[in-house]
Amino acid sequence: MLQRATTTIGGMRRWAETAESIAATRRTSEKVAILAAYLATCSAEELPLAAVFMAGRPFPERDSRSTGLGWSAIAAAAAAVAGADSRSLGAHYEASSDLSQAVADLLAEADHRAVGPPPTVPEVGRALAAMSAARGPAAKAAVLEELLRRCDPFVARHVVKILSTELRIGLREGHLEAAVARGFGRDPAQVQWALMLTGDIGRVAELARDDRLGTAELVLFRPLKSMLAYPAADEAEVLTRLGAPVWVEDKYDGIRAQLHRLDGELRLFSRDLKDVSAQFPEVLAAGAALSWEGILDGEVLAWRDGMALPFLQLQARLGRKAPSAEIQAQVPVIYVAFDALALGELGKPGATVEPLLRLALHERRQRLEGLGLATTPGFGLATLASAADASELKAVFQASQQRGNEGLMVKDPDSIYSPGRRGYGWLKLKRPLSTLDCVVVGVEVGHGRRHGVLSDYTFAVRDDRPASEGRLVTIGKAYSGLTDAEIAEMTRWFEAHTISRHGRYRLVEPSVVVEIAFDVIHRSTRHASGYAMRFPRIVRIRTDKGSQDADLLSTVAALHDQLQEGGRYRVLTAGEA
Ligand code: AMP
Repeated sequence: MLQRATTTIGGMRRWAETAESIAATRRTSEKVAILAAYLATCSAEELPLAAVFMAGRPFPERDSRSTGLGWSAIAAAAAAVAGADSRSLGAHYEASSDLSQAVADLLAEADHRAVGPPPTVPEVGRALAAMSAARGPAAKAAVLEELLRRCDPFVARHVVKILSTELRIGLREGHLEAAVARGFGRDPAQVQWALMLTGDIGRVAELARDDRLGTAELVLFRPLKSMLAYPAADEAEVLTRLGAPVWVEDKYDGIRAQLHRLDGELRLFSRDLKDVSAQFPEVLAAGAALSWEGILDGEVLAWRDGMALPFLQLQARLGRKAPSAEIQAQVPVIYVAFDALALGELGKPGATVEPLLRLALHERRQRLEGLGLATTPGFGLATLASAADASELKAVFQASQQRGNEGLMVKDPDSIYSPGRRGYGWLKLKRPLSTLDCVVVGVEVGHGRRHGVLSDYTFAVRDDRPASEGRLVTIGKAYSGLTDAEIAEMTRWFEAHTISRHGRYRLVEPSVVVEIAFDVIHRSTRHASGYAMRFPRIVRIRTDKGSQDADLLSTVAALHDQLQEGGRYRVLTAGEA
């Protein structure tokens, strides 16, 4: 039995010591046991924040606040407390490549002693909230400075870990759920369900403590995490994992968006749970014609005359707070729904919205089809096909590729919606990736676990234009996806073949060829080649190739032109339904 303490002494120091002991063991069962014992002995005020902090974040997941402290504000606060120059954090960072460690080292070097009693967990929570509310880096840094003055280097390190969302103690969401369940003697499945609905582990810990998990509710305008898809290699893997028949939808290349609608108000949330409504005013306006309330999952697509526009055009609309009328006319968008996560009673606005997450996909789809999206301008419904065996699935896949699409989403009609999980309920089947063979021309030490090894590679292709004499031009940068042993070996090689050093960056002899996979190539002034890749990843080192075998700039240009063309998706919309 766990002992329940009536008093809590130690505050943030006890929290930090608990985090250290969790990090110190590799055994999941021990991590869970340590955390369960800790949570069970937190004070009422401490518990929700302590749990959220253990998730490695300053605020609950579904809380859109952030502290907004950048590197320079943290450096300024730490330097002020240490009585050091504001550039001194950089030197410590060079040594560890770890921001929280660098802050602790800077304070230790200055022999900083905590002023007054160490902060309690709620005090740290209040300081983080104040940082979020403060306007401008100087005001935010001032709040952090005041907090750090009360922390010794050890506690300071943990405070910075939380505010920089880099806790790294090997605690996954499932472990947190297990610890809450165990700490308060509750059913782990109930804890998991409550977390899915509320997205707030702190609130869930309180509900578990008070035996009120059953009262957890879905709240509109607080986005749920998106269900993710697992990549399948081919049709055979799809059928082995899901069993026939499977459901197939086009894999739209737009922006994942969760649509919430209540009391006539519509909002869209991105995959990282940000409110992106203002970026798509035409979807908000079109939403006035809808007559239901609830939450849908789908994709915003750039769409004109019944055709999807290339992702790159949609990208031109992103990152702007509110698009101009001109850009709205150039790149119009629609919302294509593929799932229903919660719905109120049809035609009865204001009725309780019921979560549908645990219904089978075929039941959710039925509810989705009842919403009339295919006949509402500005909206569309993902088309659905069913494939009974491998040859049918192949035919659907080929047809989608011929329409120029990246791939398919294959779904198990009996699967539930699992927010934030990459389960086998949804599989993505993509066309074989394009790869390019590039030469490594520069390397840098990595971050976090990869500090001290040269794991960030800058790579180049060969410029085959007449005047450029085949020189290498950079096209991208990626973290090595190699094993630790391979990285160690490559580090030794790069150290021995460094041409010159520029701070963290080393120019190296251009002779290692790496095969790079990517999603899209776009024009960019960031690299000398004039192109950049989206999501570049190192597939492997081509020990069989030398730098003369690197791909050519003309190949990159040809691939770019090919990928420029958008896919032709099938969507049920007002024009076509
Ligand atoms: P990926 O980004 O390659 O991991 O693929 C998953 C993404 O595909 C999702 O996050 C969605 O944004 C997108 N997607 C496009 N079409 C669909 C669809 N029909 N069902 C689910 N996700 C889709």
